[in-house]
Amino acid sequence: MTDEDLDTAAKALDREYVFHSWLAQANLDLPVIAGGSGATVWDHAGNRMLDFSSQLVNVNIGHQHPAVVAAIQEQAGILATIGPATANLTRGRAAQRIIDRAPDGFAKVFFTNGGADANENAIRMARLHTGRDTVLSTYRSYHGNTGGAIVATGDWRRMPNQYARGHVHFFGPYLYRSEFWATTPEEESARALHHLERVIVSEGPDTIAAILLESVPGTAGILIPPPGYLAGVRALCDRYGIVLILDEVMAGFGRTGRWFAFQGYDVVPDLITFAKGVNSGYVPVGGVIISDAISATFDERVFPGGLTYSGHPLAAASIIASIDAMQNEGIVDNARRIGDEAIAPALAELAEKHALIGEVRGEGVFWAVEMVADRGTREPVAAAVIGQLKKEMSARGLVPFSADNRIHVVPPCVVTDDEVAQAMAIYDEALTAVEASG
Ligand code: PLP
Repeated sequence: MTDEDLDTAAKALDREYVFHSWLAQANLDLPVIAGGSGATVWDHAGNRMLDFSSQLVNVNIGHQHPAVVAAIQEQAGILATIGPATANLTRGRAAQRIIDRAPDGFAKVFFTNGGADANENAIRMARLHTGRDTVLSTYRSYHGNTGGAIVATGDWRRMPNQYARGHVHFFGPYLYRSEFWATTPEEESARALHHLERVIVSEGPDTIAAILLESVPGTAGILIPPPGYLAGVRALCDRYGIVLILDEVMAGFGRTGRWFAFQGYDVVPDLITFAKGVNSGYVPVGGVIISDAISATFDERVFPGGLTYSGHPLAAASIIASIDAMQNEGIVDNARRIGDEAIAPALAELAEKHALIGEVRGEGVFWAVEMVADRGTREPVAAAVIGQLKKEMSARGLVPFSADNRIHVVPPCVVTDDEVAQAMAIYDEALTAVEASG
């Protein structure tokens, strides 16, 4: 088979046999990815693409980091799998690495298979710890595709799947499209907190087990919390005896230029959920980092939950190697520096030049570019415009990430200045092409 034949075969097999997430299945024409390195991926024929999606915003360490690949290979040669009710050195070391990066007061890690079941189990822990039922979360959120996590989710993916009970939604802060008629970040923060307290009181504070929030809502638009908001949510949780769960699945492990996104916002949660960046998805894994107090609830009481692959050794080995490489190679620092020095100024320049851009916001390697039909009214562009933009970007060799009317600029944390410059030139050309056609 020639390399081109391999690409054709990959597409044909995919079309015939693979059922895909979140899509109507007929007539799919998905890109073939055969290999990758750092921020670049390629097909069998060797056509290279700059990955400014990090796939699903999870490949924080870049593709094929040699230390992580080697750690998985080495562990596979020692012990490829083992049940959860065992003590395993690799698993213990992975948990220790994670606890070392969490704030004081966190005791243990419960490993899951990904982000959804991390949230699912965090919700369960909060309910059992408090003896209460209701979980509050925001309309602008995604928490995963399992029974409770998808109903905790606020966006459209919840609506066909609302079978879990005990979930109530509220609005978080989003100044650009304020639900609270706010005009400053301070106003937005204060009014969003007022709204949340009204929801708590109206639902009955004694019934509320947890508030579940993405520290920085990701797919919902990279909504950087305004000053005082997360600290204010913490204060409400303390006042009413509610567990605060911060979902760091997308924002955690380097994406914001910090190990955990919440570390920039003067707040400490009771439970932290993680997945994605902890090992960049080289092996599926997620988990819950559990505070001393909640962990102690289950000292003498059985935790009624578990997974065959909890703390899988291949996942654990990849977590150790990934965290060590991120630490030793300054990868989290690179995300922060490149956000401040390269991405922020370049996106500001694009926003000056292109009327399609209503706002850019973000930090580290976690940025949203909000596309509008009219800067005055802030009316979102039609879906077709985003489709056209993505086509123009792909044609120029960039893997884009889009959500609603936005392009998210979310490369791996290892991205270089040169790669950012190349990507910005592609965004610029794609915007120019779409503006010229419209
Ligand atoms: N939480 C957040 C904030 C996410 O972005 C995601 C996935 O995108 C999830 C949870 C679900 O993670 P997973 O797809 O690993 O189940």
